[in-house]
Amino acid sequence: MSNRILFLEKLFFALFALLFVSIGFIYLKFDQTIEATSKNIAGIEVSDTKRVADTIDKNIRLYASKNLYDRLKNSPTLRRRLNKILSLYINKNIKYVYVIYKDRMGSFRYLLDGSKNPKERGVFKQKFIPISSIWSKCFKTEKDVFAKQRTISTLWITYLHPIIADSKMQGVLALDMSLNAYESIKCALNPLRNYIAYLLFFEVFVILIIILQIILFVQERRVARVDPLTRLYNRNYLKDKAKNIDLNHIYVAMIDIDFFKKVNDTYGHDVGDIVLRIIAKKIIAYTRGEDILIRYGGEEFIVLFSRTQKNQSDESIISIAKRVQEQISKDPIRVRDLRITVTVSMGLDPFTYKRSSLAESISIADEMLYLAKHNGRNRVEVAKS
Ligand code: GH3
Ligand code: MG
Ligand code: MG
Repeated sequence: MSNRILFLEKLFFALFALLFVSIGFIYLKFDQTIEATSKNIAGIEVSDTKRVADTIDKNIRLYASKNLYDRLKNSPTLRRRLNKILSLYINKNIKYVYVIYKDRMGSFRYLLDGSKNPKERGVFKQKFIPISSIWSKCFKTEKDVFAKQRTISTLWITYLHPIIADSKMQGVLALDMSLNAYESIKCALNPLRNYIAYLLFFEVFVILIIILQIILFVQERRVARVDPLTRLYNRNYLKDKAKNIDLNHIYVAMIDIDFFKKVNDTYGHDVGDIVLRIIAKKIIAYTRGEDILIRYGGEEFIVLFSRTQKNQSDESIISIAKRVQEQISKDPIRVRDLRITVTVSMGLDPFTYKRSSLAESISIADEMLYLAKHNGRNRVEVAKS
């Protein structure tokens, strides 16, 4: 039953872990998709903006084919007219349209500005402070350049187009694209993205709970399988493990303390407990790590000796078991200032591999233990076949 619960817990863990990985994958892909979509849109918008820039360029040159600065300087009417033309191209995607020139000192100044709001509009010759290196680049290369805006949060991409007339740079036309298109995509997809993030968070939470449950379960099971007095396994362990034990690889010994009732009666139950603990320690000391040690009842122990080699002889098995019984019984046990002589009897079934179940082998070892008691105690009786 407990194994089945543990199996289910592990299965849940595996399923949720798998779900976490797949949702995590979707989450990562989702971000990439938004990024790719925004790039695509940027591509489309930029090419649209380039077309707009070309049109404005043609318009400006229609009115002033050369010496743009001089023409504008001398004609406020032309400035108004061209500003008006620039303003026609301002819409929800293009926020600012303006033309900048570089004076003899190398400073950037406004030539034209299509902004409708007079507070925002740069006036003719007003100093313009570029916040990106693309301005110098455009003046230098005399080619179209664009870059993502990093300083002004409402703007997305700044597109710069050189106005060249008479083989001379007349100024740079700038179009600031607003964040609209990009933001609207992000806003539309963000709830879904957040939902996936919540799902991931929930997954982590569930996985942590399952891990905690498994840890608690394993701990509880370990506690339930161990005898608190001697720290040896108890019957629960035997019950859980019996199915998995290969009868070809073990042989069974049952050990019982001789006249233990007398120890309790003479020295008290507390001393009896200490004696039990010391006997358990002796059993641990005289057996090997691979042997399984169980406190089967009050003062009864089972040792499932592990067969070291497949064709280990019966004689060698019997002599190992006998040595364990002798060593446990040899020295008196010291408790406080007492020296208590305690012996044990052992029933041995070396033929576990012939039995149909572990229970059968234990029952035969028990019969042999009874015989050992009957034959005078402090001895080993071995099943004949
Ligand atoms: P035998 O040689 O025939 O085995 O004699 P015995 O006295 O050992 O056997 P019996 O079955 O008559 O008594 C076993 C005693 O073990 C009785 C019980 O009080 C004692 N016992 C069982 N569990 C514990 C324990 O945890 N602590 C203590 N102190 N005594 C225990
Ligand atoms: Mg006893
Ligand atoms: Mg007993």
